[in-house]
Amino acid sequence: MADHVNRAKRSLIMAAVHSRDTMPEIAVRKIVHSLGYRYRLHDSRLPGRPDLVFPSRRKVVFVHGCFWHRHAQCKYASSPKTRVAYWQAKFFANVARDRRTRRELKNLGWTQMTVWQCELKKPEKLTERLDDFLAD
Ligand SMILES: [Zn+2]
Repeated sequence: MADHVNRAKRSLIMAAVHSRDTMPEIAVRKIVHSLGYRYRLHDSRLPGRPDLVFPSRRKVVFVHGCFWHRHAQCKYASSPKTRVAYWQAKFFANVARDRRTRRELKNLGWTQMTVWQCELKKPEKLTERLDDFLAD
């Protein structure tokens, strides 16, 4: 995907992506709430500060932006055509951090699910997936 967005605009997008309560995250919260599950938000006592935490089930859900977290084979995980080395280093660090977080949570006995931002395009399917994950 071509990099049509200029640098100033991109930094605005990044700021939005990095904000604490991103739109995809709010959408996922709504789905989970509609399914009747209770959760905590951003528990900083856990590795990776998971977006939604279900303490009694020992489960967490991460809501990941496809661009930042490099969703494999996803059209939203485009690569900027400028400052290539900078972005590659950044992406590499993000992916490595996610991997470390997953391992740490697993070692602590937590089960986890990642919701990708693009999955919100098919809310019914995502709702089913979340319900399956949280149900047992
Ligand atoms: Zn995606």
